[in-house]
Amino acid sequence: MKDSNCIFCKIANGEIPSVTLYEDAEFRVIFDIGPATKGHALLLPKEHYANLFELDDAVAAKVLLLAKKVAAALKEATGCDGFNLIQNNGTDAGQTVFHFHLHMIPRYHNDHAIGFWKEGKADTEYLQELAEKVQKLL
Ligand code: AMP
Ligand code: ZN
Repeated sequence: MKDSNCIFCKIANGEIPSVTLYEDAEFRVIFDIGPATKGHALLLPKEHYANLFELDDAVAAKVLLLAKKVAAALKEATGCDGFNLIQNNGTDAGQTVFHFHLHMIPRYHNDHAIGFWKEGKADTEYLQELAEKVQKLL
């Protein structure tokens, strides 16, 4: 399914032109319009899924395989020193475009391009309870 109001549906399906690194029947990989670093790319399914939780299982299974392949090529082509895969779900997690996408971000020595989390302290009792709760839901 496509969403006629979704910009990534339009880009993924070629209705809006983009510089494309990779395309097949199900996916398109483009460059981010506001890149964190040189070569920051976005992997988009052509079908519309708002986020990870809505993503079709068969599509989900292909995402990491494709990301691995494109990341390796991007790494070689850019000569980057490291690589982040980032995927945001929900406004509170930083998602701004509600069509599933995987950020593929080449990293360069000392680029300081991405701020990571502040290290907290693990609460073992809480984590044990949480693990049991999650296990029951799987
Ligand atoms: P997120 O915050 O995870 O939803 O990421 C959305 C990303 O999409 C941001 O990094 C934007 O810079 C990028 N973006 C938004 N519109 C476009 C566009 N038309 N073409 C390419 N990238 C876009
Ligand atoms: Zn869409």
